Amino acid sequence: MQDKKDKYQDLVYNKVNYYEVASQEEKKKIFDFAEGYKAFIDECKTERECSSFAIAEAKEKGFKEYHFGDKLKKGDKRYFVNRDKGVTFFKIGSRPLESEGLRIVVAHIDAPRLDIKQIPVYESDGFCYLKTHYYGGIKKYQWTTIPLSLHGVVVLNDGSKVNIRIGDKEDDPVFYISDLLPHLGANQMSGKASDLISGEQLNVIVGGIPQIDAKNDKIKINTLRMLKEMYGISETDFISAELSATPAMKARDVGFDRAFIGGYGQDDRSCAYPCAQAIFDVDNENTSICILVDKEEIGSEGNTGMKSKVYEDLIDEICYALNVNPRQVRGRSMCLSCDVTAGYDPNFSNVFEKRNSSIVSCGACMNKFTGSRGKSGSSDASAETVGKVRKIFGDNNIVWQTAELGKVDIGGGGTVAKFISQLNIDTVDLGVPVISMHSPYELISKADLYSLYRASLAFLK
Ligand code: MN
Ligand code: MN
Repeated sequence: MQDKKDKYQDLVYNKVNYYEVASQEEKKKIFDFAEGYKAFIDECKTERECSSFAIAEAKEKGFKEYHFGDKLKKGDKRYFVNRDKGVTFFKIGSRPLESEGLRIVVAHIDAPRLDIKQIPVYESDGFCYLKTHYYGGIKKYQWTTIPLSLHGVVVLNDGSKVNIRIGDKEDDPVFYISDLLPHLGANQMSGKASDLISGEQLNVIVGGIPQIDAKNDKIKINTLRMLKEMYGISETDFISAELSATPAMKARDVGFDRAFIGGYGQDDRSCAYPCAQAIFDVDNENTSICILVDKEEIGSEGNTGMKSKVYEDLIDEICYALNVNPRQVRGRSMCLSCDVTAGYDPNFSNVFEKRNSSIVSCGACMNKFTGSRGKSGSSDASAETVGKVRKIFGDNNIVWQTAELGKVDIGGGGTVAKFISQLNIDTVDLGVPVISMHSPYELISKADLYSLYRASLAFLK
């Protein structure tokens, strides 16, 4: 029986748990890598913070800022900043670009959150509130009764910028959205989960002490007075602000064996971090690019999302600077669109088709296609593209897996892959399986995080 199994082993596809096959040395690397990652997601709650954190690390590693029109040469390490909300790192390799093309990894650094409205401040019955407008797909009820922090920028009338980040340090205050007590919640609980709390009820408590000498709206006035003192802003300045309420919970190891990481924003920072580390570490012959992009959660729109022409322009400009034809280069380039996928959750097994689901700790997961129903909205990578990537992973002993999002008829989702493939670049999705995706506290496996780092490193090389 044993012999028979071994003899036919090559005939069958099996997923392997990375922890099970990793050496002691590799297990240590898996755990060490997670420490840097946790520090990153604790420090970075918005795309702006991710972008500046990554730039600071890149500068330490010798990357210099790039502007359109700059001259480039082999060996250059540069970064291009898009409106402080995205950053692209690139290294010019020694192999001929016109025949080899570019190796590109992309991840997004925005995450679902509650954006503060443009006229947000009001007072009611002992509370001062900020009104919010959610960003990205959320289950609204999950955002009540958790500590929230505020992150973002306020642009003043004179054009100067005020940075706000409050709620994540140990001695900071946090902010809070209420939910109904169960004693009075019978009606609420018998309704649809999507109506448990409405968008207009996601109002954040930010104050409660009145300004005694104010005529009316005393708590609001006191809150505005404090904002003026702390940040130099007044109510009107919220008009030109990008402020977000984000979960104020630190990333933590999960499990007695610390196999997992719980934390906010792991879609898609669990891919952004390994991708950035990969381009920092790669000793490459190919010319490689790592794009950390904004606005994926609302459809990759605008001039900071993946649909923006700036990314096509950037690739073209790099090619012009190296005296090669960008059309030729793009046609020979390959891209890993690194975005998280839905990890198989035994608690909710009915929405998954297990054979084609990503199993936690079995490595970074390739999605040949995303989309919904009949693959609608997916770029669907070609067999040839998947074949090339598969060979790279095989040659480099990467523990990885392949899957789709869930059962065919149940739902779906998309990534930036289709926008990159439109540039005539062969693109396939690869990402970390996430449990409780888009919730304020998502779960991933440290093994999968490290697998994505190794996979993107091998790919860029
Ligand atoms: Mn994502
Ligand atoms: Mn997402």
